Amino acid sequence: MNTLSFSALLLLLLTTSAHAQQPFTVGPVTAAPGTTASGDLTVPPRAGDQGTTIPISVINGARPGPVLALTAGVHGQEYTSILALQRLLKTADAKAITGTLILVHVANMPSFLARTIYYSPADGKNLNRVFPGKADGTLSERIAHAITQEVIARATHVIDLHCGDGNESLRPYSYWITTGKPDVAEGGRKLALAFGMDHIIIDRERPLDAAESVYLSNTAITRGKPALTTESGGMALTDEESIARIERGIAGVMKHLGMRADGPAPVAQPIMIERSEVLRSGATGIFYPAVERGHTVAQGTLVGRVTDFHGRVVEEIRAPFAGEILYVIGTPPISKGEPVAYVGTTAAAGGASR
Ligand SMILES: [Zn+2]
Repeated sequence: MNTLSFSALLLLLLTTSAHAQQPFTVGPVTAAPGTTASGDLTVPPRAGDQGTTIPISVINGARPGPVLALTAGVHGQEYTSILALQRLLKTADAKAITGTLILVHVANMPSFLARTIYYSPADGKNLNRVFPGKADGTLSERIAHAITQEVIARATHVIDLHCGDGNESLRPYSYWITTGKPDVAEGGRKLALAFGMDHIIIDRERPLDAAESVYLSNTAITRGKPALTTESGGMALTDEESIARIERGIAGVMKHLGMRADGPAPVAQPIMIERSEVLRSGATGIFYPAVERGHTVAQGTLVGRVTDFHGRVVEEIRAPFAGEILYVIGTPPISKGEPVAYVGTTAAAGGASR
């Protein structure tokens, strides 16, 4: 072969490989094109804690395309998304996928195994309040750091899959975070529509600073990647309806991103929640809800009561504006400052209430 044809062949090979799917590596896990591989990210012990592992899978499609990271179990008692990803691991055919899926099966293993709500048993911190994390921080901060560095950094799009925590009776909804760059915010809006849940909370209050991103999905957004937080299920249940809704949502997003040929259509008539407010308890005691998730309330409607441990009512919590109950606490323990309910409305603040 002469030099010219050798150069031409080399060019052809280079050009071809640039358009062919490559092996994809996350931490210690590498998946060849058209295959699925699983393993653990390791968070080593430090400063007296035991460290932990973060189980992940990489489903690497046969053709190059978007890299969609799906995270479950940031809160350890939020089981529906954990089970939805277990199903996806079994049902996804890597050969049929364009692009790559990164699955984080249980982000918060200490909380999952100890069955705690909100806070890690290791350091008392809420994993979804310590992003982007710290390499030399507490265990929750190191978990966040590992997810930021190994998962979010590798992804083009991120969906953080939540549900009501073990004490939250919740109706399904997504959070659309609007604070990113305009194209990132628009990408996030399209993810919300593609996921298919009709209630979409407009969240205008997430930090803009990538070094203080606080939340997992906002860590992606502050790094220029469209992201979404979803909520389907709650009360530590594993109901089929809530799990299927997540599976459907992931399929819709994959279709939207061109990662699969077929899939459910985006939600046609979204109910955009313009204003929402978490109602908090002013006292520690026993909580008695007076509403259920999905209930419509007027301004001033009683949402719940808190009693002390001798049965005296110490607080009545009322709706600050007319709207819908997005979640309400469904178990008796309540501490001062903790959420008792979340109310939202399609009416803008100051506007007419429906
Ligand atoms: Zn959560």
